[in-house]
Amino acid sequence: MTSNFLELKGLYKTFDNITALNNVSLNVSKGEVIFIIGPSGCGKSTLLRAVNWLTPPDKGEVWLEGNLVGSSSSKLTIKEAKLLNNLRAKMGMVFQQFNVWPHLNVLENVVRAQVVVAKRNRKEAESKALKILDEVGLTEKVDEWPDNLSGGQKQRLAIARSLAMDPILMLLDEPTSALDPELVAEVLSVLKRLVDKGMTMLVVTHELGFASKFGDRIVFMDGGEIIEEGPPEKILRTPKTDRLKQFLEKLNITSLKG
Ligand code: ADP
Repeated sequence: MTSNFLELKGLYKTFDNITALNNVSLNVSKGEVIFIIGPSGCGKSTLLRAVNWLTPPDKGEVWLEGNLVGSSSSKLTIKEAKLLNNLRAKMGMVFQQFNVWPHLNVLENVVRAQVVVAKRNRKEAESKALKILDEVGLTEKVDEWPDNLSGGQKQRLAIARSLAMDPILMLLDEPTSALDPELVAEVLSVLKRLVDKGMTMLVVTHELGFASKFGDRIVFMDGGEIIEEGPPEKILRTPKTDRLKQFLEKLNITSLKG
């Protein structure tokens, strides 16, 4: 048993001869908001996708609320695989490229998985969808088609779709990177609401300002490894390793220091 809400133990992942994750371990408490930063190709996405087993690691274990989400060593029966799928469904995932169904209108995007996967009745699913769409500021768009939404609206819809499944952990992979700068704030304000509600979140981001304001911890990765982690203040203002110093210098955030 573990007292941690989420526990990543010794995760390894290679693609051909590239080591994307090299012995990554991380403990996350309930309600913690963790931002993952690091240069392109350092393994941030792979780590996030390993947490819900979307990309199963070659070695290592993931535990959620004391339950094994996946272990590369286990051979599963169908029943065990089903139980694991239920566990993985508790983790909502939001991608850089807004993951919405183009053939369904806004309301249906948030209703459909509730009815099909969570087996909720339509009325219940609709009322939940309307409530969540209101929370992400899309009430006026419920009848709209995704193609007619801005990038920021699409991303808020993707977040709403995820939230409708009652996740206990949200995994967000560069949720604002594909957005025009003027649309970033509206998505960050939805994320801020989730922070305020106490949602446990792992967020891959380049938004260091947001991370420093709302993160409990920042994890800096390089070369598939966690190089440094700690409170934003410490990571951004007093980096210990040359690798983190260089990364921050490249991002030109010297103004945050001192
Ligand atoms: P980041 O999110 O930090 O940019 P990734 O986790 O996407 O990094 O990638 C880590 C490394 O693994 C990179 O070298 C990338 O090219 C490689 N990689 C990631 N996914 C795949 C894949 N499906 N097939 C082959 N190589 C991959």
